[in-house]
Amino acid sequence: MERLTDISYVKGILSKHGFTFSKALGQNFLVNPSVCPKMAELCGCSDNVGVIEIGPGAGVLTNELAKKAHKVIAIELDKRLLPVLSETLADHNNIKVISGDAMKLDLNDLISDEFGGGEVVVCANLPYYITSPMIMKLLEEKLPISSLTVMVQKEAADRICAEPGTRESGAISAAVHYYSSPELLFKVSKGSFMPAPKVDSAVIKLNILKEPPVKLDDEKTFFRIVKAAFSQRRKTLSNSLSSGLSMPKSDVSKLISDVGIPANARAEEMTMQQLADISNALNGI
Ligand code: SAM
Repeated sequence: MERLTDISYVKGILSKHGFTFSKALGQNFLVNPSVCPKMAELCGCSDNVGVIEIGPGAGVLTNELAKKAHKVIAIELDKRLLPVLSETLADHNNIKVISGDAMKLDLNDLISDEFGGGEVVVCANLPYYITSPMIMKLLEEKLPISSLTVMVQKEAADRICAEPGTRESGAISAAVHYYSSPELLFKVSKGSFMPAPKVDSAVIKLNILKEPPVKLDDEKTFFRIVKAAFSQRRKTLSNSLSSGLSMPKSDVSKLISDVGIPANARAEEMTMQQLADISNALNGI
């Protein structure tokens, strides 16, 4: 259905079903005709690769994915969109829409039921209100997927893709780099959506790593360290860790100096290896 980027056509279909946009559900639908074919192309789906889409909306990306993928599973929270999707996805027989909250579904079970052992990728224009938790759920659950290609706000894209140890990096950069190799694919202007959001977006691809880039004694400690380290960006690393981990400042200072990190270092200066060294040292005491 090529007409899903035709604004008056989409408005017509939505109003026929009594649909009005919900800001709370992050409903900004893509109407720029070049974006979805590009996302479908770059996400790596093909005749023998299945796709999970989160939040199909009116089905504009779903249609493009279905042209390339072996099978598309699209998870939509807003039940009001189900009759819309029945109409807009009618041309394809390789799409299954699941009504539910992608944050709450057991995606490991879903993938094994729907795709068996075949290769699976995720491709989605994510609702912005759950960008980070959704990405973290998809990564932390260690799903059998090879990549996530997702549209997020441009600022979030920059943060997620920033290499740990650089000024733009944050807790999400370190978490994402532990599981994947992220790349910024292309920018998308706010005018590409209906209704237009206040800020521009970007499509990023997180290529899942077979092995983590650093060796950890305990992943939970690593993620506690990352969260605490970046919780107060203006403070030094030792101050943030001391308050975030409820540890005396002198113990934290000794710990970071034992692994060769200067006393006045800041979280954003820490490479993945340095964050891992702190985590492993903390685990050892
Ligand atoms: N894919 C469509 C597009 O590109 O035009 C719509 C994208 S819109 C940014 C986000 C979609 O995610 C909406 O359809 C919204 O209803 C849906 N959504 C929001 N929260 C969700 C959740 N927790 N689980 C599944 N879908 C969700």
